[in-house]
Amino acid sequence: MAALRTLRVGLAYPNGFVVARSRSRQLRFAMDSMHRFYSATATSLPSSSAVVVGAGPGGITVVGNLLEHGAELQTDQQKLVWVDPHFQGGRVNARYREVPSNTKVSLFVQFAHDVSPFKAIVEATPKPNALTTLLELPQDEGCHLSYAADMCVMLTNGLTSHPQVQPHQGKVTSAVFDEQTNIWKVGFDNGGYVSTSKIALCTGSAPISKTVPAIERMHQESLKPVDLDVALAPSILAKTFDPTANTTVAVVGASHSAILVLMNLVQLANSTHPHLRIKWFTRNELRYAEYMDGWILRDNTGLKGQAAEWARQNLDVETFPNSPVSKVITKIWTAGKEEEAYKAELPECTHMVQAVEYDDLSGRFYEKDSPAELERKYIPGLFGAGIAFPERVTDPHGNVEHAVGFWKFMKYVKKVVPNWVKPSI
Ligand SMILES: Cc1cc2nc3c(=O)[nH]c(=O)nc-3n(C[C@H](O)[C@H](O)[C@H](O)COP(=O)(O)OP(=O)(O)OC[C@H]3O[C@@H](n4cnc5c(N)ncnc54)[C@H](O)[C@@H]3O)c2cc1C
Repeated sequence: MAALRTLRVGLAYPNGFVVARSRSRQLRFAMDSMHRFYSATATSLPSSSAVVVGAGPGGITVVGNLLEHGAELQTDQQKLVWVDPHFQGGRVNARYREVPSNTKVSLFVQFAHDVSPFKAIVEATPKPNALTTLLELPQDEGCHLSYAADMCVMLTNGLTSHPQVQPHQGKVTSAVFDEQTNIWKVGFDNGGYVSTSKIALCTGSAPISKTVPAIERMHQESLKPVDLDVALAPSILAKTFDPTANTTVAVVGASHSAILVLMNLVQLANSTHPHLRIKWFTRNELRYAEYMDGWILRDNTGLKGQAAEWARQNLDVETFPNSPVSKVITKIWTAGKEEEAYKAELPECTHMVQAVEYDDLSGRFYEKDSPAELERKYIPGLFGAGIAFPERVTDPHGNVEHAVGFWKFMKYVKKVVPNWVKPSI
């Protein structure tokens, strides 16, 4: 009997499932965070040219690019199966419609024109539509993500009715690789399955609910946690707090999301919730994206757009003391003294929002035991894209970041897909 081997996929996995086992020449992937949205009857699909898991911006990008390479994938013989429980544009539509974008409108427009299957959808969709609406906005500025989300839904509607795409509404719950045939058997939550030689995981990521250690040690049971997604949606956030009660919200972090949360809370304090106050816990100075000669310093980690503008005006070391926001925000510096800072300040807080963000090259997975880049043993036919599997990029100053955003997914997937579609990969 073949010995049991444990494999680890070699890419970051904010969604949590990183378990891969080999047994009797089979690799098994266990996927967690599986929800059952549809209980369709167990149907097994005919074998497919590729399976794309997830229909957020990452999945949309991958499907568009795989169709662009339909000839190599032979999508005329076998359809491409696309799986998602909703087919509604992913998290950007479900959660972030009210969030101001950190990218310019022109990049969303560029995204919708970058591969021929998208262009065909744009041309075939009756006007006015989500794209014509985007085109009417100032192209050099940001917009609410609702506009980008509507564009995702428009592209999804076009892609799901593409003759070479077989959409499957549901969740992928397993993927078992047969090393003898080089075929994956991809299982659905309704008990059905599909066989394929290529799978692309575009399953996205969600905010972590884990409490930062210094706070955990203090057992702040009296603090009501406010979900980061809720704090990013002003209309839902407003209903979270009693407008007549004294409320103090602890906001932890200095990321793009943290600044958006602070903006939303200040807006509430200045309007419907006059008794709301904020304690902002940060260990870092604010870091901004900087437009250099042909490239952007801190493109993925620095503040951009409306959040950057607001932070410069109100939160910077120089501007904060004289800004009206200092009347509602107390800034608490935690660098080097986290434990004591939380101990002193948290007891006065009623709620807490943790906006601490989770922080490679080919979009492929490799066995953990093959570390040297050139000698990596790649897992056949398994790929990843989107926010869960972003590209690792190094800027001209040598800073390493993960590239996240519609346009960055597009640039990356365009680069790697010609390799993914090769029969031997
Ligand atoms: C606050 C915030 C602001 C942002 N602002 C911008 C911006 O301004 N501009 C920009 O370009 N980007 C922005 N982004 C980054 C990024 O573009 C979005 O996060 C985007 O939603 C990521 O797309 P995705 O497809 O990787 O993941 P998601 O949108 O999360 O989509 C994943 C999809 O996979 C599905 N799925 C998961 N597991 C399974 C399974 N097992 N089987 C089947 N389906 C499954 C889910 O249901 C979901 O539909 C922002 C991100 C955040 C968090």
